[in-house]
Amino acid sequence: MIPDNHPRYRSLVARERIADAVRSGIVVVEGASAHGRGEAFDYLLCEKTSESALLAEKTAAAYLMAADRAIISVNGNTAALAADEIRELAEASGAAVEVNLFHRTDERMAAITAHLKAAGVTVLEGTPERLLPLSHDRALCLRDGIGTADVVLVPLEDGDRCEALVAMGKTVITIDLNPLSRTAQTATVTIVDELTRALPNITRACRDMTPETGNQLVAAHDNTALLRAALRQIQETLADALD
Ligand code: ATP
Ligand code: MG
Repeated sequence: MIPDNHPRYRSLVARERIADAVRSGIVVVEGASAHGRGEAFDYLLCEKTSESALLAEKTAAAYLMAADRAIISVNGNTAALAADEIRELAEASGAAVEVNLFHRTDERMAAITAHLKAAGVTVLEGTPERLLPLSHDRALCLRDGIGTADVVLVPLEDGDRCEALVAMGKTVITIDLNPLSRTAQTATVTIVDELTRALPNITRACRDMTPETGNQLVAAHDNTALLRAALRQIQETLADALD
């Protein structure tokens, strides 16, 4: 048991969840490694939601609420860390949930779908088709899901797939603690914040959103400015440590 007064309690609980999910087959070993990269960046962000990340979260909510067909794409790490938060965001935003895996097997698809359903998430199901401009199984998604969505929220996404979704003309919102990753650099809206902090903030913003506020947020959106603000945050952490 991790004592709940430990200064890095949330981080340690998340790590334990990822380890459990590796053992149950929901997360692949590569996913555990990606989690570690996220932890390192979160340390540099002082494990806090910055002002610019909160603006990105509100902007994401604006795009989700204005979408004709919004989809939340869920992978193993996201399911393991945030099944409840995904349910709440899906309810608040009206977005549908599709399981989409980089390391896709039928067994993992089934295990993650069952895990989400146990948390009360309604999951899109059907026969996947090769609709993304990528080779092999990386191209698979549901026609009624990501295939025809205009707005896709893909937390912790791979750079190639993010680029492919953008190339299809979709609005891509990502949550990625690394502001330098290709995913962060190519998405329409990049939220540089930890998944379990970001999702409830987006949900709250969806609940509070008015069409006027939504239009203003979309009109003012500047992803380069958000990424630069995240990099400055990291720079400040390092500068403070050097003082
Ligand atoms: P890219 O392919 O986009 O250049 P990458 O190869 O560095 O990125 P991936 O393994 O494809 O990274 O994706 C994982 C990304 O998710 C990493 O950038 C990591 O920082 C981030 N990440 C991991 N865990 C979390 C988390 N809990 N919250 C937010 N971001 C996370
Ligand atoms: Mg990658």
